Amino acid sequence: MSKHLTIIGAGPAGSMLSVLLARQGHTVTVYESRPDMRITDISAGRSINLALATRGIEALKAIGVMEEVEPSLIPMYGRMIHDEDGQTSLQTYGSRPHEYISSVSRTALNSVLLDAAEATGRVTIHFDMRCRGVDFDQNLLTFTRGEETVEVPFVMVFGTDGSASAVRESVLEANGGQLTLEPLVHGYKELTLPAGPHGEFLIERAALHIWPHKDFMLIALPDPDGSFTVTIYLPVEGPGNTFEQLVTDEQVTDFFAQHFADFAALAPDLTAQFAANPLGLLATVRTTGWAFQDRAVLLGDASHGVVPFHGQGMNAAFESCIELDRFLKEHPDDWATAFAAFEQSRKPDTDAIADMAVDNYVEMSTSVVDERYVLKRALALEMEKRWPETFVPRYGMVMFSTVPYAVAQSRARAQGKILDQLTAGIATVDEVCWETAAALVADLEPLPS
Ligand SMILES: Cc1cc2nc3c(=O)[nH]c(=O)nc-3n(C[C@H](O)[C@H](O)[C@H](O)COP(=O)(O)OP(=O)(O)OC[C@H]3O[C@@H](n4cnc5c(N)ncnc54)[C@H](O)[C@@H]3O)c2cc1C
Repeated sequence: MSKHLTIIGAGPAGSMLSVLLARQGHTVTVYESRPDMRITDISAGRSINLALATRGIEALKAIGVMEEVEPSLIPMYGRMIHDEDGQTSLQTYGSRPHEYISSVSRTALNSVLLDAAEATGRVTIHFDMRCRGVDFDQNLLTFTRGEETVEVPFVMVFGTDGSASAVRESVLEANGGQLTLEPLVHGYKELTLPAGPHGEFLIERAALHIWPHKDFMLIALPDPDGSFTVTIYLPVEGPGNTFEQLVTDEQVTDFFAQHFADFAALAPDLTAQFAANPLGLLATVRTTGWAFQDRAVLLGDASHGVVPFHGQGMNAAFESCIELDRFLKEHPDDWATAFAAFEQSRKPDTDAIADMAVDNYVEMSTSVVDERYVLKRALALEMEKRWPETFVPRYGMVMFSTVPYAVAQSRARAQGKILDQLTAGIATVDEVCWETAAALVADLEPLPS
């Protein structure tokens, strides 16, 4: 039976979900706090591009928009590591041709989804409407639009309003659930490395660039116009290398000249950008109690926000949309059961990617230049070539497969022990004892496809 549904938030999760719900035959009204990004620039110096990987691609294919997204993608085949002397080395992400991630403009991708939602003929999107809360007794949603307060009746509401979700507050109050915010000491600031005089890329286009410095790092993703979106991750407060200590132009210039000289040389207006662009804070969001009866459910960053170091927040949000759609179809007449089953099935996976995203900071900022890590990585890729059904490096399971995150996490731990054992006392992959490797791999279960 067709229902009238309300979605709060037209970001990646809300806009994808609106397409899926409309395709089930429901009528969907979406409320978004910001102006329409298709006609107004809303980036304001924040997260301009994102890494899209297999989970996200599978979801985009499932709703039939991958062809529209494809032209905006820039493949990145590996991490280009910039060392302190400005030397670079490429660490490829995988051993197979399809194992790359893609840089995509957040606005371009979200706009495709908004267009797809409207094209269903069942989705209406209202912009500049900020939800302030949900009244489950009166079945009313409260919004502010400029100075005005507006109340709107609803039947069922989907909270896809991001990590500071207003819907979440009302849902958790109603169901007694819990929010756990795990703030990171690191904050971030986005900067631009401009294109060259003829619109050319000034550093390698087909890679995700990393300047690893253990306690802080810089990363860069290519943009379609030849520029790169560069993000500095740095502790927010305290002595030493922190945002708190980078106040004057001189401090900023000295810091970048000392640690990221090759980047600084290519970004002439660095101090102006640094002063103008906002400092973003990062936290893992975990919740219990994603739903209230059959009347509300949370999804995406609103219920499972992760730190950005695995490039999976949006990919996970898309995968959650597909999962929720599946449960709603399995229980068409009992959405309370569908919502509960969705949380029960999905939460172990979202908790796992939250942990792996935090772990990946260490990998990106520190391990990539550690000899033991480089050896284990090379061995892991070689083992994947030999036993592709059984041994897949963690990065590959997370980024290039749809193996449930929780499976990827526990499997990666088991594989990590094998790598430790096989690399003990050796310096190159050529020295590995392959009989021992084969015996250890034989003890692993085949991976779910
Ligand atoms: C620096 C950085 C880099 C990242 N890089 C990647 C990456 O490479 N790959 C990846 O997969 N993920 C990445 N992420 C994570 C990704 O951005 C999020 O996981 C993803 O955007 C979540 O989508 P969402 O729709 O759940 O939430 P959001 O993107 O936050 O969207 C929520 C929407 O709701 C609207 N909204 C908020 N409050 C209200 C309200 N009260 N009423 C109405 N509307 C409201 C917002 O305006 C927004 O449009 C990154 C995040 C950051 C911060």
